[in-house]
Order: sequence, then C-alpha cells, then structure tokens
Amino acid sequence: MSTQNPIERLADTRHEFGEHGGVNMSIEASTTFTVMKPGTMPELFEGRKSAPEGCYLYGRHFNPTVYQLGQQLAAIEGTEAAYCAASGMAAISAAILQLCNSGDHIVASNTIYGGTYALLHDFLPAKANIHTTFVDVTDLEAVKAAMTSNTKVVYAESIANPTLRVADIPALAEIAHARESQLVIDNTFSPLLLSPAALGADVVVHSMTKFINGASDIIAGAVCGSNEFVQGLMDLHTGPLMILGPTMDPTVAAKISLRIPHLALRVAEHARRTEVFAKRLQALGVAVAYPGLAEHPDHELLRELRCADYGFGGILTLDLGSEARANELMDVLQNRYGFGYMAVSLGYFDTLMSCPGSSTSSEMTDEDMCSAGIGEGLVRMSVGYTGTIEQRWRQLESALQDIGVIDAPSA
Ligand code: PLP
Repeated sequence: MSTQNPIERLADTRHEFGEHGGVNMSIEASTTFTVMKPGTMPELFEGRKSAPEGCYLYGRHFNPTVYQLGQQLAAIEGTEAAYCAASGMAAISAAILQLCNSGDHIVASNTIYGGTYALLHDFLPAKANIHTTFVDVTDLEAVKAAMTSNTKVVYAESIANPTLRVADIPALAEIAHARESQLVIDNTFSPLLLSPAALGADVVVHSMTKFINGASDIIAGAVCGSNEFVQGLMDLHTGPLMILGPTMDPTVAAKISLRIPHLALRVAEHARRTEVFAKRLQALGVAVAYPGLAEHPDHELLRELRCADYGFGGILTLDLGSEARANELMDVLQNRYGFGYMAVSLGYFDTLMSCPGSSTSSEMTDEDMCSAGIGEGLVRMSVGYTGTIEQRWRQLESALQDIGVIDAPSA
C-alpha cells in the first residue's frame, strides 16, 4: 500500500540480502556482466532490455548495488525510480542536461549552492547555449514573469543554501506545469523533512555527501524521478549519466546504504538541537535565522509542507555583520571551545560552520550575492549531535560572550 511517509515507504522497499544470505547486500564488484544467450546483447544495446529486469550490461550503465541504493532513494522521495551519481553536482548536471537542449532556458532560484550557480550562470551558457534567469522564487509573480516559451526547467532548492528560504514547491510546480516546464528541486538540505515529488516536483536531486551519508567521508549524488526519466539518464546515445560517466562506485553505494537506516534518527536529532540553539540565540538577541522560528518569513509555509517528525531542519545562520567578526566567532568556537569545525559542507555528525560569502557562495557575483541577501558576515552552521546539548550550548554561549556579541553574566 502506498504511503506518504518516507520512512514507511523505505521500510516497505525490498530488503536486498547478500549473496550468501548476509543481512547486508553484497557489493557487485564486476564492471561487466555475462548474458546467457548471444541474442540478449543486441537487445541491451538497442535499449530493449535494461535493469532492473536482472539484465545488466556494463558498470557505467546500471550496477546492481548502485541500483539498490537508487531504489532506497526512490522510496525516500516517493518517486518511481532513482539512480545515483558520483557527486551531487553530477546528479544536478545530469538532470538538467536530460531536460534541456541547446537554446533552452531555465528559471532558477537566486539563492542556490555556489557550484549550481556556476553551472547555470557560467558553464551551461558557454558550453551548451543553455541560459538561466535567476529570480527570487519566493516571489511567485517574478517566477511567472521570467518564464519564456523556451523555459524547460524551473530550479530551486527546497531550503535554500545558505539563506534558508523555503521554496513553495506546490506553487512553483503549478507555474512550471502551466508552461510545460519541469520543476527540479534540490532536496539536499531537507531529506525526509520535505518530499518534493509528493508536493509536485518532477525531479528531485540530492547531494548525498551531506545528511544522507552523514559522515563527511563520501561524495555522492542522486537523481529521483519517473521510470522514463531515470531510464533516459542511461540512454546509450543521449543519457548524461551514461555518456558523461559520473559513475558511483558500488562500494560507495554499499557504504551509503548502511547509513540510510539511521537517517531518520540523525535528521530528527540535528533538527531538535538546531531548534533549541536557534530559540536560545534569539532570546539573547543574536541575529539568527532558522525556519523553525516563528519570525522566519517561511515558517508557516514549511510547517504546512513538512513531515513534522523532522522539526525544521538541521541548519541555522548567524549574521555577525562583517567577515572579520564571523571569522572571530568561528575561530573561538573551534579553537578555544572545541565546538565544531570551520569547514564547508553540512549534515555531518559534528557541527560544521562556514562563511558562505567567502566560500560556498563565492562563485556568485557581488550583485547576485547582495540580491540573494548573503551578507559577508553570515555564518552557516550545520548543527551536529556529538556531546550533550547543554555542553554544546555552554560552548556556543561562551564564545558569543568572549567576542562581545552577548553580555557576559555579571560576577
Ligand atoms: N546542492 C547543495 C544544496 C549543496 O550544498 C551542494 C554542496 O555543498 C551540492 C548540491 C553539491 O554537492 P556535491 O558536493 O556532492 O557535488
């Protein structure tokens, strides 16, 4: 029976046993696969037979272990199918190249990960004559106005990196579909919390490097969509995953699949701690942004769209006003108190903090950064779950006192 709950869908997905009955699936290490009859080979090459009919061709095409991880992602996202790629950027590039040809147009959110911004702003116009108009996707009239007769994709992040603005996925889907475009949502910041496909998105992409893997030891991505779309990614003539070849290694797929069962526990704990910190910071008068705060402009929207088991996500931002102050805070947190690490990325079990203006969003022009609201003193904090919450709070509060953002308690 189909369900709207991602964790129930995941539990309903076939459990793949190992070759010898192991509780974990085996790693299919082969790069090439035998056919039992010579006639099968032409069928494979003509696209008349493909995985998952148990007929595998070559490791850059479907691999059984990678395929199984894809099935788990499809269950989480509630899509017919999904397949994995070597990175989040590979997944995003493949999805876009599958939907757009030379001369096509994209309408994209003006607050997206810097690498995706560079892909749309610099790479695709130069290499493929695919052009993007960037808009504030929280302004639905601006999205409508940006659509042209060549627009094939509306692109947004479910919760935007790093501004934490929330995409109104049902409204964006309506706008896209009215113009026969497809809505592509990057759900990297909100696995389980948001199910973009159920809300109207056609394609969901992930950097699994972040929350889904959760240990900052693997770079990986996934594309989730219809069977037709995922088979298209593997087309022997035009499929971007097959032709450009950003293939996921099966040992990587097996490792990630062992971390999927505790994704729900991790995401819930990231969110619980982030909400506690955000509320306490706000009470102290610190400039904090978190969609779980009633004052956040998209609080009600996220409350409406989300699966409530996962709070409001595991990331908050602090605005320190200048890059120097932001660096001072991160330095004290990491080097005096051992609170997290100054590092890009997110979704790690420990806290990661970075200054997007000079790191993960630095691909953006100053003007675009300004219109997206990314100030130079903005600190993005992906809140981890090591140590106790009170221990981490004492460290955070002490660092803010040390640098004079909040008053020290009177002696
Ligand atoms: N999407 C988002 C929202 C990201 O934050 C990132 C990386 O930070 C990516 C995609 C790219 O993922 P990867 O580094 O796995 O290629």
